[in-house]
Amino acid sequence: MTPRVRFAPSPTGWLHLGNIRTAVINWMHAQQVGGEFLLRIDDTDPESSTEEFRLGIEEDMTWLGLAWDSYAKQSERFPEYDKARDGLIASGRLYPCYETGPELELMRKTAQIQGKPFIYNRTAYPLSADDEAKFKAEGRDAHWRFALTPGEIKWDDLARGETSFMAENLSDPVLIRGDGSYLYTLCSVLDDIDLGMTDIIRGEDHTSNTAAQIQLFQALADQAGLSDFQMPRFAHMPLVSGADGAKLSKSNGALSIRELREHGGLEPLTIVAFLSRLGTPDGPQPVSDITELASSFKIERFGRSGPRMDPEELGPLNSKIVRQLPFESVTDRFEGMTQAQWAAIQPNLEKLSDVTDWLALIHGPVTPEIEDPSFAAKAAELLPDGTLDGDSWKLWTDAVKDATGAKGKSLFMPLRLALTGQARGPEMAVLLPLIDRTKIVARLSGQAA
Ligand code: GLU
Repeated sequence: MTPRVRFAPSPTGWLHLGNIRTAVINWMHAQQVGGEFLLRIDDTDPESSTEEFRLGIEEDMTWLGLAWDSYAKQSERFPEYDKARDGLIASGRLYPCYETGPELELMRKTAQIQGKPFIYNRTAYPLSADDEAKFKAEGRDAHWRFALTPGEIKWDDLARGETSFMAENLSDPVLIRGDGSYLYTLCSVLDDIDLGMTDIIRGEDHTSNTAAQIQLFQALADQAGLSDFQMPRFAHMPLVSGADGAKLSKSNGALSIRELREHGGLEPLTIVAFLSRLGTPDGPQPVSDITELASSFKIERFGRSGPRMDPEELGPLNSKIVRQLPFESVTDRFEGMTQAQWAAIQPNLEKLSDVTDWLALIHGPVTPEIEDPSFAAKAAELLPDGTLDGDSWKLWTDAVKDATGAKGKSLFMPLRLALTGQARGPEMAVLLPLIDRTKIVARLSGQAA
């Protein structure tokens, strides 16, 4: 069976470094095992889901290079959810409850005061016809809970190992709200069955949901008559915290991908390389292609404790990545740049956007910095004749040294400052032959060129 995984964001906000990590892990895993990656938009809640966020998510994913093999939108599957709902009601697994929001809140608070987790006490299971009529007469709307069957629910979690819950310690999950709208659980489980998910990789905050969902998977599969239904495997990844160890937030690392894309100056590959190794003992690899990351990806490498994410680490990784990008991968971003120019400036790049600044050293105009005009004039006289090449810098500086007696820094720095206007930059031996001869002469005479 082809392995199938999915990333299922709700389009209720921008993706950030914390939540896109789930997408990266799923995508990498799919590539590694030769599987398929589904992008599923969990947009059943019309109040908080927006088209703008959905498009933003898709743009971010595309920019990061996380292409999807298939795509689904929950808002297009309501007829399927309705059918599943009707079946569960008919079989008695889905039962109506009439507690109001404030009543449930009180139950939750009471449990909290007693230091116990809130477990729905099933007062509505079953509800007598009289009680139900009474609640309806009071104008209450029913919400619907899925009745869990008592007993142990266990699975071998790819990230957490053997994991087990007693159904008695869980609340029967609400699948349908009082207004008839669906909660994520029913839709997600039905989609996972219908779309053939084999592995569900998501954050550890879903672990107890999974316990309840396993029973729902089975109930829906039985209801659909799927005699050969195979429960998906689950992996609940430890949650990432911010650089300060606190829950991830905007201020400590949950930078939005959109912002990073528009203003961060980072390569998408840097973000993917960083996230695909965060939480493993392997440091991020400065690769030049996303497929290299996928081929060495192993979900088993992820540890059981939640990693910290320090976005400050992205900068150094980015410069390593940029410094080994092949020329062909950047040509369309810098029209007219030659391979020799790229080779000269690449070792100095922090961000790819620096290319423009470094190319300006070649094309000009550069405002030269000249401390000793006679030294510069002498150097101009001694510039080797003919076409400048890889040996020219050595020949030239040897000649200038012989003529002026300058050596070391006092020989090289004035020439660098005159030709580039800066104290640092690309190797002069490589840069020199790339600059037009007339510009070199002009700069040595103190003119901007
Ligand atoms: N839409 C859900 C979320 O964002 C998906 C969870 C899941 O992967 O099942 O939390």
